[in-house]
Amino acid sequence: MQQTSIINPNWNFEDMGIGGLDSQFTVMFRRAFASRVMPIEIVEKLGIQHVKGILLYGPPGTGKTLMARKIGQMLEGREPKIVNGPEVLSKYVGEAEANIRALFEDAETEYKQKGEMSSLHIIIFDEIDAICKTRGTVNNGTGVNDSIVNQLLSKIDGVDSLNNILLIGMTNRPDMIDDALTRPGRLELKLEISLPDENGRLQIFQIHTKQMHDNDMLGADVDLKELAAMAKNYSGAEIAGVCRSAASYATNRCIKFEGKVEVKQEMIKDMKVEREDFMRAL
Ligand code: ATP
Repeated sequence: MQQTSIINPNWNFEDMGIGGLDSQFTVMFRRAFASRVMPIEIVEKLGIQHVKGILLYGPPGTGKTLMARKIGQMLEGREPKIVNGPEVLSKYVGEAEANIRALFEDAETEYKQKGEMSSLHIIIFDEIDAICKTRGTVNNGTGVNDSIVNQLLSKIDGVDSLNNILLIGMTNRPDMIDDALTRPGRLELKLEISLPDENGRLQIFQIHTKQMHDNDMLGADVDLKELAAMAKNYSGAEIAGVCRSAASYATNRCIKFEGKVEVKQEMIKDMKVEREDFMRAL
């Protein structure tokens, strides 16, 4: 029996480098992908369509882009196309609409040739709020925003037999998005990606210090649990930033910079990122 999408046999959630989002990833898989890994005959017997769109929303730096990209690694298929909402916009009339149409072209061509056996085309739309503002709210008198929203909706709906696309929209401002975009059949699965809790922060610290740890460059006095407890309200991106800064403090101990640069070779071989570096970074 053939499937529309095949799970990459080398894929493993643990290796994805995403901390604290296991439950969101599970929901996303179960809701949006279960039908895609079923044999086509079963999907046909059920008479259902695959989920075509997901909206990931939440504060900046919480791993929305990371999560969207990792889906592409989970399924054997094409590399996701990543577009940034504001980049689609254009000062030339009609060009934004044409940009949106172009995004779907490859998927449409392949679907015409291969039907259900076409590979999955994932389109990741960062800052989707920039192009899908609630219609009628952009008061520039041109109706340009409305026409862009309509174009995107018609691309999602117009391809109702096109079963090989998945659109993942991301936003920090779900309140600004036109409701029509998140109706069933469109970006129907809405998932909040919020700031990590303490356990999530611990996982994120583990991910971003793994290399230091494996290469014996993490000080014995570094207690990641302590750091996770201290980093309350930090996003994943901020935790990654803390680890980068701590490493930079450690490297700076080995460098003298007074008018000229002097690398203290004798210190490099024992260099470690210590607790005090993380404290400063935090
Ligand atoms: P924005 O809304 O600003 O676009 P985002 O939610 O899409 O932000 P990402 O771009 O995915 O955030 O995160 C930026 C970087 O922060 C990631 O590449 C990764 O290094 C780190 N990061 C963020 N969240 C996590 C996480 N949950 N686990 C591991 N690393 C994370």
